[in-house]
Amino acid sequence: KKFKPGSVFFRNDKNKPGMLLPRKGNATTPIEVQRKQLPIYQAKPQLMNQLRQLHNAILIGETGSGKTTQIPQYLYEAGIGRQGLIAITQPRRVAAISLAGRVAEEKRTQLGKLVGYTVRFEDVTSSETKLKFMTDGMLLREAIGDPLLLRYTVVLLDEAHERTVHTDVLFGVVKAAQRRRRELNKIPLKVIVMSATMDVDLFSEYFNKSPVLYLEGRQHPIQIYYTKHPQSDYLQAALVTIFQIHQEAPLSHDILVFMTGQEEIEALARTCRDIAKHLPDGCGPMVVIPLYASLPPAQQLRCFQPAPKGCRKVILSTNIAETSVTISGIKFVIDSGMVKAKRFSPDSGLEVLAVQRVSKAQAWQRAGRAGREESGSCYRLYTENEFDSLIPMTVPEIQRCNLSSVMLQLMALGVPDVMNFDFMSKPSPEAVRSAVNHLELLGAVERKEGQVFLTALGKKMASFPLEPRYSKTILLSPDYSCSDEILSIVSLLSVDTVLFNPPAKREEVLAARKKFSSSEGDHITLLNIYRAFKKVSSGNKEWCRENFVNSRNMGLVKDVQAQLRDICLKLNMKLGSCGAEMGNVRRCIARGMFVNAAELQPDGSYLALDTHQPVSIHPSSVLFQGKPAYVVFNELLHTSRCYMRDLCLVDADWLLEAAPEYFGRKLHPSKS
Ligand code: ADP
Ligand code: MG
Repeated sequence: KKFKPGSVFFRNDKNKPGMLLPRKGNATTPIEVQRKQLPIYQAKPQLMNQLRQLHNAILIGETGSGKTTQIPQYLYEAGIGRQGLIAITQPRRVAAISLAGRVAEEKRTQLGKLVGYTVRFEDVTSSETKLKFMTDGMLLREAIGDPLLLRYTVVLLDEAHERTVHTDVLFGVVKAAQRRRRELNKIPLKVIVMSATMDVDLFSEYFNKSPVLYLEGRQHPIQIYYTKHPQSDYLQAALVTIFQIHQEAPLSHDILVFMTGQEEIEALARTCRDIAKHLPDGCGPMVVIPLYASLPPAQQLRCFQPAPKGCRKVILSTNIAETSVTISGIKFVIDSGMVKAKRFSPDSGLEVLAVQRVSKAQAWQRAGRAGREESGSCYRLYTENEFDSLIPMTVPEIQRCNLSSVMLQLMALGVPDVMNFDFMSKPSPEAVRSAVNHLELLGAVERKEGQVFLTALGKKMASFPLEPRYSKTILLSPDYSCSDEILSIVSLLSVDTVLFNPPAKREEVLAARKKFSSSEGDHITLLNIYRAFKKVSSGNKEWCRENFVNSRNMGLVKDVQAQLRDICLKLNMKLGSCGAEMGNVRRCIARGMFVNAAELQPDGSYLALDTHQPVSIHPSSVLFQGKPAYVVFNELLHTSRCYMRDLCLVDADWLLEAAPEYFGRKLHPSKS
């Protein structure tokens, strides 16, 4: 046996299993009954009494206790905040969409009426909407036009423990709005912070010493197992553990596996399905269900459906199943101990996505998923010593990401002194400085007498719901008469991946892509695919299947493009197309994205020009085989090495032209 048992852990000893109401609604239990079975239901009268009186509250309750789906309905039914809207913010787009769907179903209304959602590029609300699920980023954008958030009477900041950059900025924004509204004698704003676990004191202190309400959850004992030895390959370890459990445990006990990302999850799913076909007799069947943020919503809903009788459900998920969605029937959790997250070094200014170790708090959340309905087990694919060395809490994203987008937004919000914004956890001064420098390079801000001001260009940039370098590229596009093309490319990069890459069909995929592939890079290749897609009347599912294109996401690209175009027209931009002149497009991209440039070295490797950090071309890039002298890239992904993803071939001269002083020091003159 490769595991040794660790501690048995009881999350909530007061709460003996079976003490609460009959458990476990299933798909056939009427939805009204399901609602009444939630732990939060018993606390409703008391809870509403408190929330009616409080302006600030912090509400803590186990995942699955009913906070997100029930509190908005309770408030509405109790007539609290009826003068305006109730906003419920979510860090994840998919959570906002699926939770709004669930609440609309519970309320037996059509989505978009009483209950709606707003996420970037998608607004399903109407004048009737009172309960509005939205991403934290969207509420932040609304605050730019309405800093007092006057449409809202209640803001529920959900999943606060995730501490995404947007949530952290929102904390400051709603706190200021609340205070200003009091000063101006406007309708008060109620702010309720909700979470599964968190550093309660920090939050309470920040929100004017607000009271903390604990919901009694139903958490059953969980047996924790650690590996005896460190595992070098957590994918392999996960695979072995899945099948060990599968061969030993009753088939009705479902397994939830925490992995780090889409590619890894799809690969593991494929291997599991292959192995499951060739199991010895007496070993039952399994359904393997992937769950990650970029999965189309319809496929995401599959994880909520019970497995067919006599069949085991195995869900392979990213950290999305830690707290944002609750899946019933889970008896076993397998925790890789890893998560894909952003990392940032202020001196380099580069933000990198990297697979890294989880925090202890995350590991406990993951384990907790096994004990929601009855006692369960959690298999940690790491040793107890490794667990002990984990950091206690995840570092808030604001302290490990590129802040240029946030700084631009704060300035657009009219925050007088961005350097000293009231953050709950302050980002490092170097990170703030580096962000301001970046914005200065892009021409979005300028300094006068030690103060930082938004320029006219910066104001325009802030009107796009995009990263500053993308909005800059769009704003530059009329100079190269390629706005149509740039808008398409930015839209393609803004939705989740538009291409399917089923590894089992690698050869077919390569063959299908070949006709679109451009030696000028991935941006142009994507544009070629998009142009072809539009030509064959976009609804053509057949064409999408043949070319391994995600038709739904492609449809979204069109919507996104239309919205970006509207913003351009409001800014009086002259839009046009450069036809086949792809050089214009690349020139424009080079000028907007010059900070992310890399240079070929004599030994065939690449160095990022900004930081002199070694980088490589990602195998998925069309430029993987070639050795272009200069490229700009969209993002860095750190796995075995640091990969550049989505590349565009550029000339050194263009980079120099984009930022002469900046590159004057960096470019190798021999090459330019
Ligand atoms: P919390 O916010 O406290 O974690 P939720 O309000 O999200 O809890 O979930 C309460 C219950 O609602 C969950 O236990 C789950 O069974 C059910 N639920 C939530 N979303 C869905 C959905 N999309 N489909 C089916 N059931 C759902
Ligand atoms: Mg929730």
